[in-house]
Amino acid sequence: MTIMDVSSYAAGEWVKPGAGARNIASAVTGEVIATAGNDSLDVQAMLDHARNVGGPNLRKMGFHERAKMLKALGQYLTEHKQKLYDISFATGATQGDHGFDIDGGIGTLYVFASKGRRELPDGHVLLDGDVEEFSRHGTFKGQHIYTPMQGVAVHINAYNFPVWGMLEKLAPTLLGGMPAIVKPATATSYVTELCVKLMLDSGLLPEGALQLVAGGTGDMLDRLTCQDVVSFTGSADTALKLRSTPAILQNAVRFTAEADSLNSSILGPDAEPGSPEFDLFVKEVQREMTVKAGQKCTAIRRILAPEAHVEAVIDALRERLAKNVIGDPANEATRMGALVSTGQRADVLEKIAILGTEAERVIGDPDNFEVHGADREKGAFLPPMLYHCANPDAATKVHETEAFGPVSTIMGYRDLDHAIDLANRGQGSLVTSLISNDPDTAIKVATGAGAYHGRIYINNRTSMKEATGHGAPLPHMIHGGPGRAGGGEEMGGIRGVKHFMQRTAIQGSPDMLQAIGNQFVPGATEKPVPAHPFTRTFTDLEIGETITTDARQITLDDIEHFATFTGDTFYAHMDAEAAKRNPFFPDRVAHGYLLLSFAAGLFVEPNEGPVLANTGLDDLRFMQPVVAGDSIHVKLTVKRKTRRTDAYGEVRWHVTILNQDEALVATYTLLTMNAY
Ligand code: NDP
Repeated sequence: MTIMDVSSYAAGEWVKPGAGARNIASAVTGEVIATAGNDSLDVQAMLDHARNVGGPNLRKMGFHERAKMLKALGQYLTEHKQKLYDISFATGATQGDHGFDIDGGIGTLYVFASKGRRELPDGHVLLDGDVEEFSRHGTFKGQHIYTPMQGVAVHINAYNFPVWGMLEKLAPTLLGGMPAIVKPATATSYVTELCVKLMLDSGLLPEGALQLVAGGTGDMLDRLTCQDVVSFTGSADTALKLRSTPAILQNAVRFTAEADSLNSSILGPDAEPGSPEFDLFVKEVQREMTVKAGQKCTAIRRILAPEAHVEAVIDALRERLAKNVIGDPANEATRMGALVSTGQRADVLEKIAILGTEAERVIGDPDNFEVHGADREKGAFLPPMLYHCANPDAATKVHETEAFGPVSTIMGYRDLDHAIDLANRGQGSLVTSLISNDPDTAIKVATGAGAYHGRIYINNRTSMKEATGHGAPLPHMIHGGPGRAGGGEEMGGIRGVKHFMQRTAIQGSPDMLQAIGNQFVPGATEKPVPAHPFTRTFTDLEIGETITTDARQITLDDIEHFATFTGDTFYAHMDAEAAKRNPFFPDRVAHGYLLLSFAAGLFVEPNEGPVLANTGLDDLRFMQPVVAGDSIHVKLTVKRKTRRTDAYGEVRWHVTILNQDEALVATYTLLTMNAY
């Protein structure tokens, strides 16, 4: 059998293993299948290449171009995913596990691609919040912005998700405009290497955007500067060691960690045996114990059940786990494969010996279990093992020992406060779940446990068909947790992109803020329009172009007509005495929607033209009532432009309705789709 050379991709060249390379064994057969690492890797050249080539190339592209690139990468990897499946069996993962790692990783690219197009501007600067007003005459204002960090993101990943682990960090990094150097765990680096090769072969990534370290990083972390970011997943010990690197501390290098986690799942007090929630709970626990052979940072390590139901949960789990076929992950009948290595198996055995001092093993025997189609000793196999801790209050080890395999400990709780207290004894976790059909229980868990957990997953009979599972982090939601879980945060939609960008407070005149943010700022110099803006194409319209309409007087007839026509005969429009008793109104007032309709009547250009559709209205505020006899006029300003398809883009218009005294009656943002 040929042994794979796992190469690094450094400064545009593939570098084969060399001095200091480590052998990698198959999780299933124990045979050496690959070798990785090279002590003479030029890490400075890699950092330079990312900073001087990758960063500038990515920053030339805007958010939307980078989002399109992520989508295309996802499509390319989808076309080639069979190759990734084939090579991944040697890590001990089953086809079902590949769904989490490979399909889950590709799915993350798609989510960031789509969020990038929908939620980020079609440009280079991301605005954070609204313009801040702090000057009397509006000539000096503030706006927070995000721009990409100008260094390199170093991603150090754990062995358990060689594809997802890389892509969940890479998607927000590239979308944010930062290049990455990816360092997978050596044990499964051959899978990551193939995925990196595929992405580079696709030709979709600009030069320098992605490099790979197979093996050790040498002194790379000593060479990081204030513009670099480290994003780490792995053990708490390694996290502590790496975040203490002097250069990281001295240069305040951003360091996020996702480390050990004693996740828990609570069976709600309402979920009696026989209820849909009880069965759901058992199913979730069984899945978390067996997917990836329990090697998931989010797996349920502590099962919390009402004391009266502990036995019933153990019995139900025993029944379900008995059907769990362990063996060669490439066999279709196999439900659970091997751990990543015999070293990792030894680590789990050590950890269960610790758990065994406080809990009794009630399911599974590491010395006596069946393995189908593979050698139990040569491969890194273990059976699912459940421990029962009878005195969780006195115990300490069960709340702090992570056996990173198919291992979980069940403990009984007296009441919900006790359950919350036990869940929080993990001292910070990635996820806790609650299986309950009672909203009051959910409120107590969310408020009592929220501070200790990065995510709270609640499932019941209503959501169970569509729920994504306790252990599945979603790209839309944050992944990370306080304390023992590392104190970091990843993904979470666009929040995750911001980890790779710097927030800066910009202060200046409205014209300056408008120029930087590429979005209209009230008070900026009004630009005259050569023709009605509705006759101008998306391309021709410029931010700040403004028209002011003629005025229109509002009569009592208008108000009455609108009231009877629409059926909105609210007293403030119809009854002068009642309106006057209301602190907001001096008399019968015009309907807000009447004003909006008249405003449209004032600014619309009726003929067919580049405006294709009115797609919405945001941030509507009515500031001043309008009574019969008042008149209104409208200012319409191009606020922001965002390309949407090859044919048209969205124009956001800043609209103000003013009265005869130039006082603000209403403001809103109007959205239209305009042809290019
Ligand atoms: P480690 O913390 O040992 O390794 C994680 C990553 O850090 C790997 O890529 C590793 O590379 C790298 N690394 C280790 N030392 C250094 C260093 N000095 N400089 C740069 N990179 C370094 O975790 P493992 O993957 O070995 O897993 C060990 C334990 O961590 C598990 O048993 C489990 O308890 C926990 N774990 C937790 C996870 C979580 O998300 N909560 C996920 C995975 C593991 P290399 O492989 O080359 O050593």
